[in-house]
Amino acid sequence: MKVYDVFVIGGGHAGIEAACAASKMGCQVGLVTMEKDAMGRLSCNPAIGGTAKGHLVREIDALGGVMGIIADRSGIQFRMLNRSKGPAVWSPRSQNDRKIYSLEALKVIANHPKIEIIQKSIVSIETENNKIIGVKTNEGELIATKSVVLCSGTFLNGLMHTGMSSVSGGRFGEMPATGITESLLKLGFESGRLKTGTPPRLNANSINFSILEEQPGDDDPKPFSFKTDKSSFPFLPQVSCHVTYTDQTVHKILETGFDKSPMFTGRIKGIGPRYCPSIEDKIVRFAEKEKHQLFLEPEGLDTNLIYVNGFSTSLPTEVQLAALKKVRGLEEVEMIRPGYAVEYDFFPPNQVDLTLETKIIDGLYFAGQINGTSGYEEAAAQGLIAGINAASKILGRNEFVLKRSEAYIGVLIDDLVTKSTEEPYRMFTSRAEHRLLLRQDNADRRLTKYGFELGLVEKEMLAELEKREVIISKSIELFNQKKISPKEINPFLEMKGTNGIESPEIISKLSKRPEIKLKELLLLDGFSEDEKIAELLNDEISLEQVEFELKYEGYIKREFETVKKLERYEKTRIPLSLNYSNLKQLSSEGRDKLQRFKPRSIGQASRIAGITPSDISILLVYLKN
Ligand SMILES: Cc1cc2nc3c(=O)[nH]c(=O)nc-3n(C[C@H](O)[C@H](O)[C@H](O)COP(=O)(O)OP(=O)(O)OC[C@H]3O[C@@H](n4cnc5c(N)ncnc54)[C@H](O)[C@@H]3O)c2cc1C
Repeated sequence: MKVYDVFVIGGGHAGIEAACAASKMGCQVGLVTMEKDAMGRLSCNPAIGGTAKGHLVREIDALGGVMGIIADRSGIQFRMLNRSKGPAVWSPRSQNDRKIYSLEALKVIANHPKIEIIQKSIVSIETENNKIIGVKTNEGELIATKSVVLCSGTFLNGLMHTGMSSVSGGRFGEMPATGITESLLKLGFESGRLKTGTPPRLNANSINFSILEEQPGDDDPKPFSFKTDKSSFPFLPQVSCHVTYTDQTVHKILETGFDKSPMFTGRIKGIGPRYCPSIEDKIVRFAEKEKHQLFLEPEGLDTNLIYVNGFSTSLPTEVQLAALKKVRGLEEVEMIRPGYAVEYDFFPPNQVDLTLETKIIDGLYFAGQINGTSGYEEAAAQGLIAGINAASKILGRNEFVLKRSEAYIGVLIDDLVTKSTEEPYRMFTSRAEHRLLLRQDNADRRLTKYGFELGLVEKEMLAELEKREVIISKSIELFNQKKISPKEINPFLEMKGTNGIESPEIISKLSKRPEIKLKELLLLDGFSEDEKIAELLNDEISLEQVEFELKYEGYIKREFETVKKLERYEKTRIPLSLNYSNLKQLSSEGRDKLQRFKPRSIGQASRIAGITPSDISILLVYLKN
């Protein structure tokens, strides 16, 4: 009988990363999906990245994951968001061709000969003595495996709502997954119910784009992946999005459907994403707002479908259409598909460990939407970590956990495991306390070494990185020594609207001024003849990193010092077997929470809501003894 090393349930963003990582590490992988053609389907917006999510994609890529490559190959618009703000929040985002994204995902998987794709529905998780032994299909077949990564997305007992109509389904046109929740509840897990929604899809030919604000991509688009060949990028023709707004008339029409809204009438029980509310929710919660911005985003190159970003709704179909027709540019609009909401089961993530292995069942991992997150990137990041850890366990290697100070992925998983969540969790830059260290530009410098050690990153990519490291350190050394005279630089400074200098100044000091762009400074007469400067000017990735390192040197140094101070607590380990009920000195809430969450370190314990400084002191004394 065939026994898989790692069996991944779900061909979504989490499942793809889990399967690719485990197979690349040498495991025999089964990847089951209910619909093979829907591999990596972008269930909602045809876009990857964005604020903080773009950071996750860069980190996934730096570790050897595949989302960045798929997004680059299917991208029809690329933008770096938040460029007017500090570099910590610069975030890459792409608009993607939905169909090509799925095709590219399939191609990437086909490059992994150790992955077997299976099109079936799994109805139960099979265990023996709290250890995984297999999974059962809806046809009653038992598939044997040593471990399972469950990435079932919005499919577990999925229920879709539009107005008064509710139908079973995981997402538009796809069946729900039944049986798995019930089999997990029998094993002692707790589940909850969440909700998310999607906007209507419109016919591009019925929209008057000529009166709307056009939003093109960047002139100099940047790929997500460090591996993407810049010379042939972007690979597909690039398109624009358009911007329009709702107004009070639109809001009034939407309000006429509130008595049939599955949200407001209480038919939807699941909690929705606070940060990505439906249009009806926005009207109620932000009643003082006269209008809401809408982005009209193309779903692909050979389709007329337009996604109305900002207009997610589950109001009755006729109300959606009537309201849309009052939006500027949409007067004659044809709605091809109405928006809808989907409710699904999730498993509060305090039930998994930092490796994403469940605390109850040995060899069972949860990743993606099932852990209460929302978003493709959050799912992919978890899938990668779960896949790595499932494979590591089979191969007898160390577990792989990223720290909060190393990666947004570390922040994401630590937040989930330590704080759990009762509403859909999405990543924000504000969730990362060390965000100046976790920039999108330096993801490779933070993580590629791990990807290489794990066997996920090729040695050519590591060699490229090492080459860049040399360029960066040599450039910084040079700019800390090389001086510019007032005569050489003052006309440039004057042109930039900043004070001239009276005596020669080193480049690193000048480059700290907010008005100065390092590249412009280096392009001044005479500089680019320097061999090292010419080399840096030819290498955009290194140039950007040198600029940030110089400009924010003081802040970065301070951030590293803070991380070092906190590290003492992160390194103070707590045995998982510790029985907190014996520690009578702890506060009763502290005792309950510690017993429930089972933190691995004092640092992690201190982040659990309800744990007091005195609980931490008691734990420290206990561990010392
Ligand atoms: C209507 C809708 C609106 C959304 N809106 C947003 C939004 O506004 N913002 C946002 O960030 N995210 C949104 N999302 C969520 C986003 O799609 C998910 O976060 C992301 O796709 C999760 O990835 P995943 O890998 O966990 O699961 P998914 O991408 O959902 O993939 C799940 C996979 O599991 C398979 N599967 C499930 N159960 C079984 C089973 N029993 N047997 C075999 N295969 C199984 C499915 O076939 C599928 O391949 C929305 C999703 C939907 C459906």
